[in-house]
Amino acid sequence: MHLAYEDARLFGVVDIVRSPGDFIREYGLGPDPLEPAFTLRAFRKILHKRRGRIKALLLSQDIIAGIGNLYADEALFRAAVDPRRTIDRMTDDEVRALYNAIRNVLREAIAFKSRDGDYPARFLVQHREEGDRCPRCGGTIRRTVVATRTTYYCAKHQR
Ligand SMILES: [Zn+2]
Repeated sequence: MHLAYEDARLFGVVDIVRSPGDFIREYGLGPDPLEPAFTLRAFRKILHKRRGRIKALLLSQDIIAGIGNLYADEALFRAAVDPRRTIDRMTDDEVRALYNAIRNVLREAIAFKSRDGDYPARFLVQHREEGDRCPRCGGTIRRTVVATRTTYYCAKHQR
């Protein structure tokens, strides 16, 4: 058997652990968005009574594990939520849209990358340039910084 591991940015490590559960506890990681326990209800519970910007929460590996900078932007783009929005000002519909967007973006990226090592054409990541046109609504793509990370969003449809 063979295990192939690609880590272009060299942030990762491969090691052997006795128990994945112990590993997750030891490193204080939050739930994986693609695991069955990560339901809409669980996501609502995570957001409940939290403050701060929604993108900062998505990047907090101790709260939800596995969402990197590009995927946080992608999910917010798809859910039509401004990355700078504060959590307490999100509506129930937006939370549902974001929940679905997180899972769909991760699933699509995994499926796509397994074939080509690139991102699907409709992903925002293809338009990460200040002043580019939004592939969804034709609005203007803007760049800002949220939680110290460079952030791209559509100034027209992400509110
Ligand atoms: Zn747009």
